[in-house]
Amino acid sequence: MKPKEKTTDSVAKNLRDIFVDGIKDIYWAENALVKTLPKMFENATDQRLKTAIKDHLEQTKEHVNRLDQVFGFIGEKAEGKKCLAMDGVLKEGDEMLQETQEGAVRDAVIIASSQKVEHYEITTYGTLAAYAKTLDERDALDLLLRTLGEEKKADCLLSTIADTNLNSQAMATSLQSKNSKAV
Ligand code: FE
Ligand code: ZN
Ligand code: FE
Repeated sequence: MKPKEKTTDSVAKNLRDIFVDGIKDIYWAENALVKTLPKMFENATDQRLKTAIKDHLEQTKEHVNRLDQVFGFIGEKAEGKKCLAMDGVLKEGDEMLQETQEGAVRDAVIIASSQKVEHYEITTYGTLAAYAKTLDERDALDLLLRTLGEEKKADCLLSTIADTNLNSQAMATSLQSKNSKAV
């Protein structure tokens, strides 16, 4: 038996449902980040990395505020729905922190897990913006795109810091091996 053809009406309704679910998911994720970023800041040593994390914490608080506004625009109550993906990325990051010592290697781990976070956010905001556009939620779309832009910038900055960090780490390692040869 063929499935009953859906009316345009119910298709739009389904898209709206997954849009609202997605907003709740990223709302949970952003709130989890507000709690986690201070720990990453504490554990980082590179000054540029620390500054980047601190700045992004302020931005992340603003991302939560924007989502509060988005809930208002779409007439839904602001509430989070546990994001299993972000929960997993953060748990993995925490585990990696515990497996490293303070310094360039731990910084590398912090950068790596932060970039996983940013990539998750980029893909999520990209999808939600596409839904908002289709649903003609212009005000929500505007805010989602603004946050998307900031997540992309944060990711680019982390890539730049990673280059410097890894270069200095490589230099330190080669110095160490030179020293041990001298002994
Ligand atoms: Fe964010
Ligand atoms: Zn999720
Ligand atoms: Fe972010």
